[in-house]
Amino acid sequence: MDINVPSLLIASIVMSAALVFPVALVPLRQHPELRLWAWALGVNTLAYALFVLRGQISDLLSVWLANVAVAQTLALFYQGICRFQQREPSRWLSVAPVLLVGASFPLLFDKLPLRVMLGCSVYAAQSLVCVVILLRHREQTAGRGQYILMAGFTLATLVSFVRIGAAASGHMELLAILLTSPVQVMTHLVLIVALILFGTGLALMVHERSESQLARQGGLLEQQNRLLQQYSARLEVANRSLTELSITDGLTGLGNRRHFDEVLRTEWERARRGGKPLALLLIDIDFFKGYNDCYGHQAGDDCLMKVAATLRASLRRAGDLAARYGGEEFVVVPVDADLEQARQLAQALCRAVAAQALAHVRSPYGQVTVSIGVAALVPSVDAESGPAALIRRADAALYRAKEGGRNKVEVDLLPARCVNSPS
Ligand code: GH3
Ligand code: MG
Ligand code: MG
Repeated sequence: MDINVPSLLIASIVMSAALVFPVALVPLRQHPELRLWAWALGVNTLAYALFVLRGQISDLLSVWLANVAVAQTLALFYQGICRFQQREPSRWLSVAPVLLVGASFPLLFDKLPLRVMLGCSVYAAQSLVCVVILLRHREQTAGRGQYILMAGFTLATLVSFVRIGAAASGHMELLAILLTSPVQVMTHLVLIVALILFGTGLALMVHERSESQLARQGGLLEQQNRLLQQYSARLEVANRSLTELSITDGLTGLGNRRHFDEVLRTEWERARRGGKPLALLLIDIDFFKGYNDCYGHQAGDDCLMKVAATLRASLRRAGDLAARYGGEEFVVVPVDADLEQARQLAQALCRAVAAQALAHVRSPYGQVTVSIGVAALVPSVDAESGPAALIRRADAALYRAKEGGRNKVEVDLLPARCVNSPS
């Protein structure tokens, strides 16, 4: 099979021109290196076109301009690689080869071997520079596209060396641009392969870089997501403890007055909807002023904490609320309890406090005791029977317990004595 060099040259022109379009179709604003590579392929097309027109146009254009175009092609490839690696290209390496070819070729017009050797040395050096900078920064560049590009530039370097060798050995007939010689066939076949490697290598490099950026962003996003989840979990915990704090009495750890008011309101509504009674226990420590006077305010605080702990421990259901009403007064809202059940609970609490046997020399009982007023109401829409009425009734019952000697339970409608008797 005969291989015709002009046909190979035309194939190179077509391929080089065709490669400009896919490269230039990528959004060039985002990829400035692709703009340079598209220019490189365009100038390469021009160089080959000028070579093909040898004999039909002036030698100045076909020899001088074509070789300047080849040097410019390689300079643009070099600049594109630097841009891809996000480095500033060396001005010297970008301009010097083009100037050298441009200035020397007119002087060597009649000295073909020297011209070929000089030109090919410049192209070999330019291709080698591309291989070296690709190699040197391979760790920072993602993917395998860079190796395809390296292979392309290595082939271009080898071709230049073969041509230098042919020129140096005096076989100038092997280098005539349009003649079909083994060196020319090899040159153009290898350069066609190099062109394919350039096109695929460049596209792959840009694609792989986008992919690795995406993966990095994905990883970052995932990391931020994890952090966000941790923060929101911590925030939730902090919020919960803040809510807990806002409804807790600082001294006793029971619910505070605000929490009691809220619970009473909601329980009132729940009982009203269900047509069921709502009970309330109002608990007051007996002779507490005397306790403070005798044992001191700090001991009074300790006593308040102990009574509160006893009340909490004596509740029967998880939903029962014990809160500090104010000073040395506490309230209990038992869930789903009628008057009788509330009375029984109050008696249990009264006994439990007395059973603590906290010494109180200023009390006729000799120990800390409580008096409890109990009331229960079936809530109605009637204004008189709002939550305040329930408190009023419990308070009235408590008053009777105090009047009746303290350390006892009194019920709003059905008075009941506490079993603890003065010692
Ligand atoms: P009664 O049996 O009638 O309830 O008599 P009492 O002395 O308990 O009632 P009084 O209302 O006269 O006194 C209540 C005392 O409770 C007065 C106040 O100094 C004391 N007190 C209120 N809050 C606290 C507190 O947070 N810590 C301490 N240590 N004492 C408190
Ligand atoms: Mg009181
Ligand atoms: Mg009291």
